[in-house]
Amino acid sequence: MTAPTPLIAGNWKMNGLADALGEARRVAAGLSGTAARVAICPSATLIQRMSAALAGSAVMVGGQDCRAEISGAYTGDVSAEMLADAGANLVILGHSERRAGYGEADELVAAKVVAALRADLEPIVCVGETLAQREAGEALSVVTGQVRGSLPAALAGKAFSVAYEPVWAIGTGLTPTTPQIEEMHRAIRATLSEMFGAAADTAAILYGGSVKPSNAAEILHAAEVGGALVGGASLKAEDFLGIIGAI
Ligand code: PEP
Repeated sequence: MTAPTPLIAGNWKMNGLADALGEARRVAAGLSGTAARVAICPSATLIQRMSAALAGSAVMVGGQDCRAEISGAYTGDVSAEMLADAGANLVILGHSERRAGYGEADELVAAKVVAALRADLEPIVCVGETLAQREAGEALSVVTGQVRGSLPAALAGKAFSVAYEPVWAIGTGLTPTTPQIEEMHRAIRATLSEMFGAAADTAAILYGGSVKPSNAAEILHAAEVGGALVGGASLKAEDFLGIIGAI
C-alpha cells in the first residue's frame, strides 16, 4: 500500500479579518522541510486574499463548505466553483458544526463532494460521533455509516481525505485515548478499502478535535493517523507550526 502523504489542515471557522493574513504568512515562512501537506481554510471572504498572500508558498488554501449547485438563487451560499475561482485548492465538507447547525445529512454531504470534484477541489470529508453515541457503544457504526453515506462513488481514484472528528472533542480540550483513535481510524481505513479498493489507499485519514502542540506528536504518530484537522490551534501561526512540526 502506498502510504498517504500527511495533511495538516487548519479550520479557521468564522474567525479572521484582513489582519489575520499575517498569521498565514507566518505559517508559510515558518515551514521548513515538513513531510506534510499544509492547508489553511479561512472564511470565504479571505480565500482570495489568502491565496494571493500565499502564492508561491507550500501552504494551500481551502474553503469550509460549499453549495452543491454551480450557481442560482441560493442567497448567501458559495459554490465549489466560486471557491476554486477565488484560489482554493481544497474544501472541508460535512463538518459536525454544519451537520448539527444546518441539518446536513450524509446525502447532502455526498452531493457537495461531487460538486467539489466538479470544481477540481480536493474534499476533506468530516465524520464523527457525539458523546451520547459513544456512550451508547455506537461510535464505530455511526462513523463507518457516515463514511459510507458521505463518500460518493465518484471519489474513486480522486484525491480526498477523511477527517475523524469526535463531536465531543471539538473545541472542548477533550481528546479520545490513542487506542480509541487507532480503533476508529482502522475502521475507517477498512471501510474505505471495501468501498474503493486500493484506489483509496492514498487517502489520508486525519484526526480532528482539540489537537494542540502538546498532544500533536502522540496523535500524529498513532496508527492510521494521516494528519490533522485543527480548529482553535490553527489561528496562531506558532501553535499551528508546532503541530506541523510534530509530524
Ligand atoms: C474542528 O472544528 O475541526 C476542530 C478540530 O476544532 P478544535 O481543534 O478547536 O477542536
